[in-house]
Amino acid sequence: MYPVSLEVRNRHVLVVGGGGVALRKVQGLVEEGARVTVVAPDVVGPLAEMAERGEIVIERRPYCGEADTSWCLIFAATDDRETNARVFHEAEDAGVWCNVADDPELCSFHLPARVRRGPLQIAIGSAGEAPFVVRRLRQLLDRRLGPEWGEWLSSAARYRDAVRSLGAPRDREEALFDRFFRETVDPEDLSARVPTAAEERDWLESPVEHRTPKRERNQQARNADRAGLVSLIGAGPGCPGLLTIRGRQRLLEADAVVFDRLAAPALPTDLDPRIELHPVGKVAGTHPVPQEEINDLLVRLARAGKRVVRLKGGDPYVFGRGGEEAEVLAAEGVPFEVVPGVTSGVAAMAWAGVPVTHRREAVRLTLLTAHEAIKTDGPQVRWDLLAQDPHATLVGYMGVSALPNVVANLLEHGMDPETPAVMVEQGTTSAQRRVLSTLSELPSAVEAAGLGPPALFAIGPTVGHAETLDWVSKLPLAGQRLLVPVSRSNLAVGLEAAGAEVVVLPMPVTPAARVVMAALPLTGCVVGTAAEVDWFDAERGGPGWSDGVAAWCVGPEASMRARERGWPNVVEVPADVDERVLVATIAG
Ligand code: SAH
Repeated sequence: MYPVSLEVRNRHVLVVGGGGVALRKVQGLVEEGARVTVVAPDVVGPLAEMAERGEIVIERRPYCGEADTSWCLIFAATDDRETNARVFHEAEDAGVWCNVADDPELCSFHLPARVRRGPLQIAIGSAGEAPFVVRRLRQLLDRRLGPEWGEWLSSAARYRDAVRSLGAPRDREEALFDRFFRETVDPEDLSARVPTAAEERDWLESPVEHRTPKRERNQQARNADRAGLVSLIGAGPGCPGLLTIRGRQRLLEADAVVFDRLAAPALPTDLDPRIELHPVGKVAGTHPVPQEEINDLLVRLARAGKRVVRLKGGDPYVFGRGGEEAEVLAAEGVPFEVVPGVTSGVAAMAWAGVPVTHRREAVRLTLLTAHEAIKTDGPQVRWDLLAQDPHATLVGYMGVSALPNVVANLLEHGMDPETPAVMVEQGTTSAQRRVLSTLSELPSAVEAAGLGPPALFAIGPTVGHAETLDWVSKLPLAGQRLLVPVSRSNLAVGLEAAGAEVVVLPMPVTPAARVVMAALPLTGCVVGTAAEVDWFDAERGGPGWSDGVAAWCVGPEASMRARERGWPNVVEVPADVDERVLVATIAG
């Protein structure tokens, strides 16, 4: 048996018989636009009504040999086997496809059972061998496939047009189609979702991720162009979404990534495990790799013909010693490029409700390294100028221990002690804290709250907006850092919009994902199957995890397995939970 889908629109189809079975065939055919003629002495009411509405033609008489070549298909559905057999044989003689209802012997084609969701059709057939399983399979799939699949297929059709209009090479197109499928279909529970326009745009603009052999050749060619290039990339202030598109592209195509501690939360978790990872930042209890060693490492990797990414927190040229690294590369003749990042001094303030400039209030922005205030060889900072400029914002980096000196210097040079001031710790991350005060009170307020690095301060009139412009702490999931398996990445958008920092964990877990997990404390994870629980279980106890991590289990299977494995803090949510309810549950 050879399955096909037939275009029957405007084609002539003969149905012999006028009972319930004939009716179902006629309805299916009319829906697809076929021109149906029914031959039967008597017909059921609905058929008569269809004829009255002009949808079909009925010839009220017994069959008398018209199964000929004027039809493209013929159906026999009378209750008389002899008539059915006659129709079939005459159709065969005429060379026209014929189907006799419930009589597989007398069929030159069978009708599959169908599950339909909008334009999506799944056909099930058994080549007439075991029709009873067909019906049951159809019911099974009908229950399992939600109504969203119809809309999903329509969105896939639109996406296909968008991909086609790019005119990209074939393997790139395939990779984009892969991406659509991977991101929108949950193979575990056979569900699908319609992507947002922003997501589609993101995919269409993103680098090719799926490695087909051809693509790998392309990639190698591209890498050959960039062999030995060092990209100095700004990772942004900590929130993973604030890494730039170009930064992400370069990371995905790198051979080696040299990263600072502040850049760790922004590493893409889906970084290919073959990419070398070199952490060079200070990790608890150890000293950072000295700058000279970092410089040597960059030069060595580049000379080995590798595509090197040097990933630094914030922007590489804002107090990140990026300028020094670039100088070394230039002096050594190693080609480099700079991919700027979102600097923490601006972003952390935005998260804290502080616009760093504001018409009339602050017409100047100073980014300052507060370290200067405690240098023994004399400050380079003109405290006198800064103190006497009331229409400016002063943002200080590396300022926790130097804050009392900074404030003393500014007060000494005549700055108003009531000037609004703020300190923000771990800005833009799930661990963000802020202390609002005045210039003179800020050091004691910061000490009382126990803020520590990384933190920034801002001093100036626009800090006065911080209460009214606080949007971050109002989000229901502010402060949450949630681990989500890649199979459930469709939840990430909604959870992030609700204020959570979401870490999407690929399966199998990549080394980059482990770095990201460890970068800040996790507060919860979302799991939906026993397999996902098992995967997470292997990671539990690693850095970032604690007993406080809540397991939000979608459905009983996951929660049962999580309890079996002795996870504390297991919360079951209904299997069909939607994003809104999930957010509300996690927010408590
Ligand atoms: N190149 C970085 C700054 C590196 S200097 C940038 O452009 O942001 C390191 C200092 O940056 C820290 O001491 C702290 O003052 C500040 N910093 C970096 N990330 C921060 C964050 N998420 N929250 C608060 N301060 C941050």
